Amino acid sequence: MSLTSPRVANVFCNHIIAIDDCNSIWKRTQNQLRMLYGEAVFNSWIGFLKFISSGNGEILLSVPTKFIKEWISIHYADKILSLWQSEDDTIHSLDIRVIKEEGIIVDKKDYKNITNNCDNLSSPLDPRFTFDNFVVGKPNELAFAAAKRIAESSTSIAGSNPLFLYGGVGLGKTHLMHAIAWYIVNISSKRKVAYLSAEKFMYQYITALRNKDIMVFKEQFRSIDVLMIDDVQFISGKDSTQEEFFHTFNALIDQNKQLVISADRSPSSLNGVEDRIKSRLGWGLVADINETTFELRLGILQSKVENMGIDIPSKVLEFLAKNIKSNIRELEGALNKVVAHSSLNGKNVTVELARDTLSDLLRSNYKVVSIDEIQKKVAEFFKIKLSDIYSTKRTRNLSRPRQVAMYLAKILTQKSLPDIGRSFGGRDHTTIIHAVKQIENLIKVDADLANDVNSLIKMLR
Ligand code: ADP
Ligand code: MG
Repeated sequence: MSLTSPRVANVFCNHIIAIDDCNSIWKRTQNQLRMLYGEAVFNSWIGFLKFISSGNGEILLSVPTKFIKEWISIHYADKILSLWQSEDDTIHSLDIRVIKEEGIIVDKKDYKNITNNCDNLSSPLDPRFTFDNFVVGKPNELAFAAAKRIAESSTSIAGSNPLFLYGGVGLGKTHLMHAIAWYIVNISSKRKVAYLSAEKFMYQYITALRNKDIMVFKEQFRSIDVLMIDDVQFISGKDSTQEEFFHTFNALIDQNKQLVISADRSPSSLNGVEDRIKSRLGWGLVADINETTFELRLGILQSKVENMGIDIPSKVLEFLAKNIKSNIRELEGALNKVVAHSSLNGKNVTVELARDTLSDLLRSNYKVVSIDEIQKKVAEFFKIKLSDIYSTKRTRNLSRPRQVAMYLAKILTQKSLPDIGRSFGGRDHTTIIHAVKQIENLIKVDADLANDVNSLIKMLR
């Protein structure tokens, strides 16, 4: 039975909803997606989707290639499902099948463009993640400038090799790495570039070991001019992957190839990564991406609505920029949600609508951090027992984390000093004042400690 025949689709269509309704839900969903992601993304990915059938709580869609299927599954499937569910709540899953239909032609040129010239190693690039679409502000200007310089250079840059980008989730690390790759692929395509996550690096390595292809694996990596490995914190605790990563890293640097690495924390804070690797990672330029500011958030929202070609009152954008502070991914998600909600319900986009649509998100952005959470997180981070946070043991490896926890309790909660003292095994408020001063002074001179404290703040918030 051919799943592509429209008559077969009738049979599969949800019995509660007639086929015409299914088709029109799909049309509306497509329009929403086009609006949410913009023309370029729509044409590169979502436009390939064909509605096949819906029934038994499932929608079946097809795409012409496995590659497009994977990309859509990772990036857009959840959204497609939730848009569909907002019209038909009997649907609970989405299945995407690869069906090579006659008549669908994958534009060879585009297809090459969205992969890149190191097909086997590299992951696909998100067409939205370009330098042009990256809004620059104080928190990310160093990282942006460093990334741009690497993209524009025809050789590796001595002082920036590796470029180590770090920052909390959703602040633009992956975006910048894709932007470097796009720039090189489109503009100075003589250089061979590969972008992949540390997880994929490990997967490739293990596959090569299993297939006894390890020489091919080594050769492939060593032939790259610009190698970018995303989320390198993933290799922590994975010894043989670290070993191979280290060799690849050294071999490339020795040959003057450019490396760009990202992580959610600074090199020295990469627990579970060998010291020699941590130190090597910090040899080049370490550029952090800081928490967003109101101005940057507003700038990003403005650029986003411009790209979507929609008009949203500036009051609403300001409301979002003011209230969604966690990260840019969440900010974009919030905007998309408000836009989708307004068009699905035919309502104007107003601050009230935004407030209603985002009530859960707004609550979590105002999340009050408790002293309990701080103590747990700090103990976990410094790998000490929770009980040692309250204890009176005075060894340095315990007293420093304890002081950090006290400092965080002071700056992240509204609790009084005596209250904080009580939460730390009944200590006097002067002990808390001392701890706060101590950490304030130390973070000015000890970059590692400052990084640790920053990472903790990000995690807790
Ligand atoms: P990370 O890799 O740091 O977790 P991403 O690069 O995936 O974060 O960014 C999350 C989302 O935020 C992406 O959709 C990205 O395009 C967007 N984003 C991040 N920083 C910016 C920026 N400065 N300008 C525009 N969009 C941004
Ligand atoms: Mg990322």
